[in-house]
Amino acid sequence: MSNIEQTLSIIKPDAVERNLQDKIKNEFIDKNFEIINEKKIHISKEEAEKFYKVHETKPFYNDLCTYLSSGPICVMILQKENAVLENRKLMGATNPNDAEEGTLRKKYGISIDKNSVHGSDSIENAKIEIDFFFKN
Ligand code: GDP
Repeated sequence: MSNIEQTLSIIKPDAVERNLQDKIKNEFIDKNFEIINEKKIHISKEEAEKFYKVHETKPFYNDLCTYLSSGPICVMILQKENAVLENRKLMGATNPNDAEEGTLRKKYGISIDKNSVHGSDSIENAKIEIDFFFKN
């Protein structure tokens, strides 16, 4: 039975700044993700705070929001069978030092905050995050 899902991916400021967005997009395409919609945007600190609201009690929340709003990002809706989990696998662990060989964060990530990509962690959050960036 097919289980086509959509998930939200963000190419974060550190990767856009290093002109890695085409390389990273090609990694998704190579793994048979379909890029349903995409846009390059520069969000405000307030928007970043809304997006990362689940982390508002964490000690790194302020730095995280400052960072996500520090430069342009590329947001994408990715579609594939089991897209949420497949994207998390392709991204690798949150800290690039712990990420497996071949994963995006291992290849491109610089540090735990500059880890190059974001991906929704559940189907429910994928819907919320897709609406956040793509609902008018
Ligand atoms: P993800 O789903 O793998 O992106 O990880 P989380 O949802 O737990 O955290 C969101 C983002 O916050 C991560 O991608 C990291 O960039 C950042 N982050 C998570 N944990 C830490 C931490 O302990 N320190 C710092 N500085 N940033 C963190």
